[in-house]
Amino acid sequence: MAILKVARMGHPVLNRTADAVEDPTAPEIHRLIADMVDTMADAPGVGLAAPQVHVPKRLVIFHIPESGANNEEDENGNEAEEAVPMTVLINPEIEALGEERVTGIEGCLSLPDMVGMVPRFRHIRYKALAPDGSVIEREASGYHARVVQHECDHLDGILYPMRMEDLSTLGYTDEMNRNELPLGARMRKKKLETEQETEVGDDG
Ligand SMILES: [Zn+2]
Repeated sequence: MAILKVARMGHPVLNRTADAVEDPTAPEIHRLIADMVDTMADAPGVGLAAPQVHVPKRLVIFHIPESGANNEEDENGNEAEEAVPMTVLINPEIEALGEERVTGIEGCLSLPDMVGMVPRFRHIRYKALAPDGSVIEREASGYHARVVQHECDHLDGILYPMRMEDLSTLGYTDEMNRNELPLGARMRKKKLETEQETEVGDDG
């Protein structure tokens, strides 16, 4: 097992479509998974896609720790969620359940020290192969759904800024934290202001 070097935005391996894994049970795939688990724990991160460690294959790992499970809030500030144990998804496929999207904070090991607000489908269903070749099929919502969408985007050469609608919310984590309002609260305030402006516009 080893800690692998993480590719940063600008490296071509992050821009290409990754190749399907032919045999999920192959020893080299299991070695890759073990190294990715070590690399993610060292970073630390909640998810990692194989292209991020310079391997253009359709494989991601993620886990939702207890502390991260309630990161994502709806308008009422509550979305009860459960932790998800370390999960390996090989050749994953995602299907959106409904059109509803929610905007939340994301970071990425390939864009160190940065965060941004990214819209994602609130509810998804995903299907993939596990390292033993069995089929994993789950429905997910909120933060769990966000992490899976973020990681699987890496397999299609997509980094989270490419999903952002408001690039003014992209910035360095320490600068964002230095401001009087945390990013999430500022984003909500901004959204509120925009909605109010729209309302005024409509009425006028
Ligand atoms: Zn990422």
